[in-house]
Amino acid sequence: MNNPFQNALEQLKRATFLVSFSSDFLEQIKHPNRQMNVSIPVKMDDGTLKVFEGYRVQFNNARGPYKGGIRFHQDTDIEEVKALAFWMALKCAVVNIPMGGGKGGVTVNPKELSESELEHLSRGWMRRMVDVVGPQKDVPAPDVNTTPQIMAWMADEFGKITGDVSGAVITGKPLESGGSEGRGTATAQGGFYVFEALREQLLLPEVCSVVIQGFGNAGEHAAHIWTRAGHKVIATSDSRGAIRNLDGLDISALSEHKKATGTVAGFAGGETFEASELLFQACDLLIPAALENQIREDNASYLQTKVVLELANGPTTPEADDQLIARGVRVIPDILANAGGVTVSTFEWEQNLKEEHWSEEEVFVKLKTIMEREALAIFEKATTLSTDLRRAAFIIALERIEEAMK
Ligand code: NAD
Repeated sequence: MNNPFQNALEQLKRATFLVSFSSDFLEQIKHPNRQMNVSIPVKMDDGTLKVFEGYRVQFNNARGPYKGGIRFHQDTDIEEVKALAFWMALKCAVVNIPMGGGKGGVTVNPKELSESELEHLSRGWMRRMVDVVGPQKDVPAPDVNTTPQIMAWMADEFGKITGDVSGAVITGKPLESGGSEGRGTATAQGGFYVFEALREQLLLPEVCSVVIQGFGNAGEHAAHIWTRAGHKVIATSDSRGAIRNLDGLDISALSEHKKATGTVAGFAGGETFEASELLFQACDLLIPAALENQIREDNASYLQTKVVLELANGPTTPEADDQLIARGVRVIPDILANAGGVTVSTFEWEQNLKEEHWSEEEVFVKLKTIMEREALAIFEKATTLSTDLRRAAFIIALERIEEAMK
């Protein structure tokens, strides 16, 4: 398995080959400002004590407070968190929001914890990090396996310790705890605005067949949004299996099935197949919305899509990128495609600081303006430099970060 941080550095090398940046800047941007490992003791329901490993990487704050989600996953480690923090710094610069890049995590399979154990773990993470996070320092958010409820526990713990109950320390909270309208769907919605802005340039048909890997926060919302817009979601998957129906899946019924059974597999409205086969399903648009390193050197040649829109972070390795470019498959990179999440997170932070509450319509109008503007700017940069969209997005982001660091 590729080390995601090495992938990130390789992407950096490729992008900075095209445009000149100062050598001091390039040296600095390869290293996080700070990375933290903490031990989080949790009293388990059976009375035993278990110690979990937690992380926070604060990559770069030249453009504003560190910003980035917290991942709970059994395979999470500091290298993964470092890569995700690096991508966050670039992502915030891509959408030009006043935030830097950070990321957090805990090595844990949260599905093996009871609700009370999960609450203790979440509060424990915040207790360990309370000195290094804060509305003007570092503002975490949800990521894989972390929910609005977990954000609410963390915000509450921060408020109890520091007395700051504005909620602006963390985003992705439930509405009743100061969350923003539209945050739940923001990542998928932002990806959709990017898709709409670039659809014609990328020579995609008016009605696309869509395949989505992952049916969690990003993937499930994407399935609903693309379906509502008249496209056909023909296959999707989760960690337990995949489902397809070439006439288009009934996504509302699939969501009901997932809620009842915990997986998309076994849904009566389609044919269940191996999750590992999903990426090879023929389609117009493939949306990886699960984990990193899914499209690799060993499987990229089997993809049968015209465009990949990366809602997941780091789903494509640099070697796979080369293969896709050679075959004319366009990749809309993660740092643009999934930046809707952090953009609405930043709206939430702003609303908390100003004690305001914006309507969903207001949130999505602002989001659409940003996503369309930056998607078109990246497309134009790629065209001018005769390069791919990832390199173009990296260059725009790095130029903005370098300017701020100066
Ligand atoms: P989630 O935990 O809600 O969902 C993840 C989904 O991926 C689940 O359906 C899970 O079963 C599935 N999955 C895991 N391993 C899989 C595999 N091997 N094959 C197929 N499916 C698999 O997480 P999420 O928040 O939807 O995040 C998904 C991706 O999107 C991550 O890379 C995350 O960093 C990225 N992302 C999320 C947000 C957000 O706002 N949620 C924002 C930006 C980026």
